[in-house]
Amino acid sequence: MRSLAVTTDSALPPAARSRLDIAIGARLQRLCDLLGIAGARLSDMAPDGLNVVASAGAEAGLAALEAPLTATSQPLVIADAGLLAVRFYAGIALPAEGDRPARLLSLFDPRPRSPGMATTIAALAGEVLAAATVARQRRQIEAQSQTIADYAALEDQRRTLFDRASATARIGIWQCNLADNSLTWTNGVYDLFEVPRDTPVTRDMTLALYTEASRLEMEAARAVAIATCSDFSLDCEIITARGTRRWMRLTGAVESRDGVAHRIFGMKQDITEEKLMADRTRYLAEFDVMTGLANRSLFQASLTALDEGREAIGALLLVDLDGFKQVNDTYGHAIGDECLKEAALRLLDSCNGAGLVARIGGDEFAVLLDTGTPPRDVEILADGIVGVMRRPVSRLGRTLRLGASVGVAHYRGGSSDDLFRQADMALYAAKAAGRDASRVFAA
Ligand code: GH3
Ligand code: MG
Repeated sequence: MRSLAVTTDSALPPAARSRLDIAIGARLQRLCDLLGIAGARLSDMAPDGLNVVASAGAEAGLAALEAPLTATSQPLVIADAGLLAVRFYAGIALPAEGDRPARLLSLFDPRPRSPGMATTIAALAGEVLAAATVARQRRQIEAQSQTIADYAALEDQRRTLFDRASATARIGIWQCNLADNSLTWTNGVYDLFEVPRDTPVTRDMTLALYTEASRLEMEAARAVAIATCSDFSLDCEIITARGTRRWMRLTGAVESRDGVAHRIFGMKQDITEEKLMADRTRYLAEFDVMTGLANRSLFQASLTALDEGREAIGALLLVDLDGFKQVNDTYGHAIGDECLKEAALRLLDSCNGAGLVARIGGDEFAVLLDTGTPPRDVEILADGIVGVMRRPVSRLGRTLRLGASVGVAHYRGGSSDDLFRQADMALYAAKAAGRDASRVFAA
């Protein structure tokens, strides 16, 4: 790692501070305003450390975040550094140009950003830098009246610079000219939609790559943003040109002239992995992996919703397998597990989509029915469950008998604790009556 001889703005003596490039400082300030961040700092990457060229905003604590970056580093984006003074940080290394050394552009803010927003800011900064590089070099070329080949080389440079920023974050930038709905994509968007790069794109073609639900949601958000000249952000499901299902985070900002929207631009980011991970985490938190039924915490959440008046419950059935320890002891745990899966399927089948079916313990299940089921039908369902559980189970080459007891409590007001206790007492009564039976709690 490079040694750190960082000169900070505030540490400089006044004479040296005045030597900082004021014109670049003003441009950094404009960049901060554009990106909605508190500060930015541009430094030369000298062999002995960073030399500040210009800065906008206070930057205490920045040195530690800049430390790992070298001239060849990929952009470093930290949504929340957790430091006191700087929480959001993005560092973009800019290659050396002519006799100017490589530079480091640091963007920072005392407020953290979401991961999506952090990458958007870095990507937009990359785009602005790339555009500035092109404009500067174009001016130089014009001054030197050089050839068209130089323009092509320039364009390549612009792409390399921007693609470096966007490829790491799996993002692309898009813009739509509202006058004629013409679209422009960077390579990142082409790659995201798996459309060959540089294919001319139209809005209709793009819309066809959204799932129906996401297209409707996106069009609604876009229409509001255009009408109010505001920003929007949403997660959309797409099916790429090659048929891959992906999740994409879409952000857009509307640019207006005299209060009339004329351009939308923003970022598209592949968040499929993040989405799958979040779905999986939610699944693990709410469902029982072995049977696929709701788990105890999802069941408990429904009871809490009842207590808080957010959910109406008509009845609770507690179902406990009979003599299940014996099944394990006789046939082994693997067969025991298969019986639990089979019991879950039979329960789901019996309830036929009504209410919530959960596995709330080892061999204990619960069914929460809403108020739509008449009490008599609840009791018929309980007897039906006892009946289907009695049927032999054939799994892993063995056939054995299962059985279950069911306790029923109709909800007649009171707390969810009362309801659970009543169903438990009814279950106990069914077990005490010899098992393979259902009982209804009677006050
Ligand atoms: P009862 O008729 O009174 O309900 O008796 P039981 O033998 O069914 O015993 P009980 O309901 O008290 O205990 C449930 C047993 O379920 C205890 C444990 O051996 C077994 N068990 C709990 N979780 C699992 C599991 O994930 N897989 C398997 N195979 N068995 C489990
Ligand atoms: Mg049991």
